[in-house]
Amino acid sequence: MFDSLKERFENIFANLRGKGKLTEEDINIALREVRRALLEADVNFKVVKDVVEAIRTRATGRQVVESVTPSQLIFTIVYEELVRIMGDAPVPLAVSPKPPTVYMMVGLQGSGKTTTSVKIARRMLKGHKPLVVACDLRRPAAVDQLRVLAEKAGVPFFGPEPGERDAVAVAKKSRAFAESRLCDLIILDTAGRLQLDDELMCELEEMKSASEPTEILLVVDSMTGQEAVNVADAFNKRLGLTGVVLTKLDGDARGGPALAVRAAAGVPIKLAGCGEKTEDLELFDARRMAQRIIG
Ligand code: GDP
Repeated sequence: MFDSLKERFENIFANLRGKGKLTEEDINIALREVRRALLEADVNFKVVKDVVEAIRTRATGRQVVESVTPSQLIFTIVYEELVRIMGDAPVPLAVSPKPPTVYMMVGLQGSGKTTTSVKIARRMLKGHKPLVVACDLRRPAAVDQLRVLAEKAGVPFFGPEPGERDAVAVAKKSRAFAESRLCDLIILDTAGRLQLDDELMCELEEMKSASEPTEILLVVDSMTGQEAVNVADAFNKRLGLTGVVLTKLDGDARGGPALAVRAAAGVPIKLAGCGEKTEDLELFDARRMAQRIIG
């Protein structure tokens, strides 16, 4: 679906190529195609409107009309607008001036929270002593999955007692454990569901007030389409997100969620997951993503 976005842009610009001057009508035709392509790529309609209007404002100037290569100029404008929407400079994870720093990982089941928790811990080993905490007590295998990944990555782990069901209590207890092990960074891997639900949100709200997180990071699978906007919006309204991690960017090119999530949640995409291994985590690069979207 997102490949067609790239293809469509290529078609638009192929049509514009070879024209010495762009008329207002040319710009309108191009923008109509840009709008259609973005909508088909599952980009939220408000974001699409924003991009299209920004492009129109810039494209209707003299520069384009007199430009020798108008297609390239419009292409650049589209690219720059996509970068602007996704945030042009990488935003690092915040560190609390008063330890411990606490990161709360939230998101739908399967989005990559558990894997990303260990990825972040691993990344923060330089300069910090992280602790990963299993607060996903709903999915039976999640605690073991986190424990095994943490062990492999050489990261301390804290989890529930056998049979313990209270995730908020585990989060609270992890603080004393972190202190006893001199860990200055706590990463809480929370439960996710296949869909948004109120009971889970209540648990997460409780965990938030109990653990006072420095960052609440929404983990979003980049293969999620339009649903990504609703997810980001819902988590943001209930919890107040501070950042997004977009996972599975090693898969097929997916640009829609990156654009839409950034605009929906109004918080920066901070990191990008690009593989199943715990070292496969990068700072989110809006320029590379824009390039990927438009080709
Ligand atoms: P959770 O339910 O949100 O905790 O999700 P998991 O961390 O268990 O991840 C779900 C699946 O996605 C697992 O098979 C992970 O190995 C895989 N996964 C997570 N992040 C990435 C990524 O960046 N790239 C790829 N290819 N797979 C990922």
